[in-house]
Amino acid sequence: MRYIGAHVSASGGLEKAVERAKAIGCNSLQLFSGSPRVWKRKDLDQVETSKMFSLRDEYNFGPVFTHSLYLVNLASPNPELLEKSLRVLKYDMAFDSKIKGSGIVVHLGSHLGAGWEAVRDDVAAHISEILKDSPDDATFLIENSAGQKGKLCSNLEEIKWLFDHISSPKLGWCFDTCHAHAAGYDLLTVGDEISRLGLWKDLKCIHVNDSRDDFDSGRDRHENLGKGNIAEADFKHFLNLPEVAEIPMILEVPGLDGNGPDAPNIEVLKSYVE
Ligand SMILES: [Zn+2]
Ligand SMILES: [Zn+2]
Repeated sequence: MRYIGAHVSASGGLEKAVERAKAIGCNSLQLFSGSPRVWKRKDLDQVETSKMFSLRDEYNFGPVFTHSLYLVNLASPNPELLEKSLRVLKYDMAFDSKIKGSGIVVHLGSHLGAGWEAVRDDVAAHISEILKDSPDDATFLIENSAGQKGKLCSNLEEIKWLFDHISSPKLGWCFDTCHAHAAGYDLLTVGDEISRLGLWKDLKCIHVNDSRDDFDSGRDRHENLGKGNIAEADFKHFLNLPEVAEIPMILEVPGLDGNGPDAPNIEVLKSYVE
């Protein structure tokens, strides 16, 4: 059985996220720990988990991921923004532990033109600090980016570099198919690249999104499965690689009515992996 999930709203309570995911045919999900556009987070003591845990048991539900907010930049030259980024990521790690999650998915941010080499030591040090200050059962997952505006880890070599410089069982990564396509990796051959870099063992989550933009466009616009520029055959090839078989797959597509992942997209994903 494969874990098929979607990014869903947790408004009204964490258990509502499970209901929403279940309603569209999922056995896994991703959510935000708060609004993705504001820094403020609820006191962790106020986060109610018991109803969510019982629903997950009842539905025999799989992994639950937390997506970090979009304002984070671990390469920011602005000390205040950096401080806020560290604080919210430590919160999300504690949140991941509290909800018995499978990891927080993080866009590391942008070097803002300075270049990867100029920021990578600091970025590694910041991630190490977050890991050190987090519960043992929390996981930090680096997501690959689409190659836009100096975004870190659009090149998988950068993810490899971070793994070479941070050794921790709490560190993994998440592969987004839309971002890879936009950054110039096609799904027919990217598996070989992941093998070459030795990154399969740390790959904990796959974001399955089609792309509104062309190959190597450097643009990050997700599209519904089968409606974008990634060929069905390419999705099928990648998602059925033996290395991918046990990795949870999460949809972050706009949905047919624009309200986020829906049952028709889940059906398409299931058809890709049958
Ligand atoms: Zn993603
Ligand atoms: Zn994206």
